[in-house]
Amino acid sequence: MPELPEVETVRRHLACALSGRRLHRVRARRNDLLKGGWHCRALERELTGRTVGEIGRRGKNLIIGLSNGAVLLAHLGMTGRLCVTDAEAPTDQHTHLIADLSDGRRLVFRDPRRFGHLELCADGRPGESETLRNVGLDAMADAFTARRLAEMLAGRTAPVKAALLDQRCVAGIGNIYACEAMFRAGISPQAPCGELSEEQVRRLHRAIRRVLAEAIAAEGTTIADYVTGAGVPGRFGERLRVYGREGERCRRRGCAGVIERIVQSNRSTFYCPACQR
Ligand SMILES: [Zn+2]
Repeated sequence: MPELPEVETVRRHLACALSGRRLHRVRARRNDLLKGGWHCRALERELTGRTVGEIGRRGKNLIIGLSNGAVLLAHLGMTGRLCVTDAEAPTDQHTHLIADLSDGRRLVFRDPRRFGHLELCADGRPGESETLRNVGLDAMADAFTARRLAEMLAGRTAPVKAALLDQRCVAGIGNIYACEAMFRAGISPQAPCGELSEEQVRRLHRAIRRVLAEAIAAEGTTIADYVTGAGVPGRFGERLRVYGREGERCRRRGCAGVIERIVQSNRSTFYCPACQR
């Protein structure tokens, strides 16, 4: 599933290719991919003629500003892709929204597994939308400080990893970057949140910010479907230290540990038992 660095890469692509363009013919094909009670025909009517403004992001959600104050929200789910293509680029049964743009190109939303969705906030109040109302602070936001992280973890008995994946606390971290951040911070994925010391919370916060920043710079990690705006895989995959490396040697210099995989809340967790106690 695309996490914060992958969605940020998509945001940057759209900021170049979509901002300032007018949507002039819009075709939406599936009501079940629209949240907030929208139907395709109403969405097409509302979007047609609007000009795209600034494009933001909170966690794994794209926030696309439109003229007259409306906002289009997009979540890419597992396999969703939102990009600007040439008008001649082929579409198929997995292409759920096509909008012709004023520059002759097209905005396309394609999602084979259909865990993604779109939601229009015609009133311009995305914070109250179905998509965002339970989404917490973005993991790269200035307001997400070590102190805020400490407040989020305090008193909780759940494992740290579960808290990092909970989008209501801090938004944008998924399975890959939760594993990588805990490895860099030297924290066991099974440690209960409330038992981390102040110093461990500071290390975890620093590790989260660093791994996300490095992954953004590398345009994300491609495990399965995700590609950058240029249609190529992200380059962070080769820099993963634990994720997907079960049975391989730990990459920390001087460590003789072997990466293990355990299952936590139905998700694989990769970690080094020697570095993360
Ligand atoms: Zn190790």
